[in-house]
Amino acid sequence: MINQHMYELGSAPSAIRELFAYGLERKAQIGADKVFDFSLGNPSIPAPKAVADALIDLVSTVPADKLHGYTPAQGTPAVRTAIADSLNRRFRTEYTAANLYMTCGAAASLNICFNAISNPGDEFIVVAPYFPEYRVWIENAKCTCVEVLAREDNFQLDLAAIEAAITPATKGMVINTPNNPVGSVYPASDLAALGSILRKKELEYGHAIYLIADEPYREIVYDGLDVPWVPGFYENTLVCYSYSKSLSLPGERIGYVLVPQTADDWQRVYAAVAGAGRALGFVCAPAIFQSVIERCVDEPSDVAAYKENRDALYGGLTELGYECVAPQGAFYLWVRSLEPDATAFAERAKAHELLIVPSDSFGAKGWVRLGYCVSHDTIVNSLPAFAELKAEYDA
Ligand code: PLP
Repeated sequence: MINQHMYELGSAPSAIRELFAYGLERKAQIGADKVFDFSLGNPSIPAPKAVADALIDLVSTVPADKLHGYTPAQGTPAVRTAIADSLNRRFRTEYTAANLYMTCGAAASLNICFNAISNPGDEFIVVAPYFPEYRVWIENAKCTCVEVLAREDNFQLDLAAIEAAITPATKGMVINTPNNPVGSVYPASDLAALGSILRKKELEYGHAIYLIADEPYREIVYDGLDVPWVPGFYENTLVCYSYSKSLSLPGERIGYVLVPQTADDWQRVYAAVAGAGRALGFVCAPAIFQSVIERCVDEPSDVAAYKENRDALYGGLTELGYECVAPQGAFYLWVRSLEPDATAFAERAKAHELLIVPSDSFGAKGWVRLGYCVSHDTIVNSLPAFAELKAEYDA
């Protein structure tokens, strides 16, 4: 007998993947330029040239047995040191290699954290709308995923609702800023207030409550906005990072977990992170890409094209009368569905060759997500289709 739960996970339909597959089929039928596919979060900006330069240099200068060999389970010390030094320069911190565990992207980082700090039956709070895999990973760690809705007016943290959701079983909370799917960036004042709430609850319940900062979009922000460094606001923070979005390397599976020394008993927590990595098989992250990161750690993200897309899509849809949340970061636009049933709305959009993801996939009702990590032409050429869709509802 196979594992029924895993069977269900593996065979369950995913709205996003189905839409993407439909898009591929449709593009083959009528031409790629006639289908406006906003379904995925696959970066449209190529990885910086420095990545290719590093790869070429590594392949030509490092002997193959070293280049492709196992690294230590937690990652090469020199790579972890380079990342720690970079974080220290940016956030005035004092991290070393000992605080960092290299992983296969944020997916692995989050899985490791959920398993490292919890026991079966513990609860993790997520802020809805949220990246749908959080629930899968939390439940796989035999814990409960507790959804707390973001504020309805601006999709920022609802601090009162978060406080009310914390119970003696709460082991942690996930925040994702800049946010997928909403595009919000949480301000320092809210992070400070959240830190105070969590500290108060730790005292009340007599155990640590971890804040897991899921940060794959940290560098993708607009208008000079500052993304506050979450561990600066709360001691028991674990940072899950990935280079999938910032360096456009989603297929290479490279990221890290940071356990700051401000966390209670941080060396024990780090050991549990290493243990969870071992138990889950997330050891020895891709060796070549560890070395690439060592060389490209301070490479800036190219956000100019995403900003141009954001402005065109947000501006264009707002002008057409759509209600949109102004994105501060990441590359997603959150748009109010023109009917209460977002799935029905997304289905009607398909008839106009617009592929958009209903908010139900993200634990929220009545909205859709548009990934604007697409070509600028896709955005410009999609606006007449959005106008037709709106006109259909207005008629
Ligand atoms: N967290 C969020 C909010 C994401 O949007 C994604 C990917 O889209 C991930 C985690 C997983 O990223 P990775 O490719 O690094 O596994």
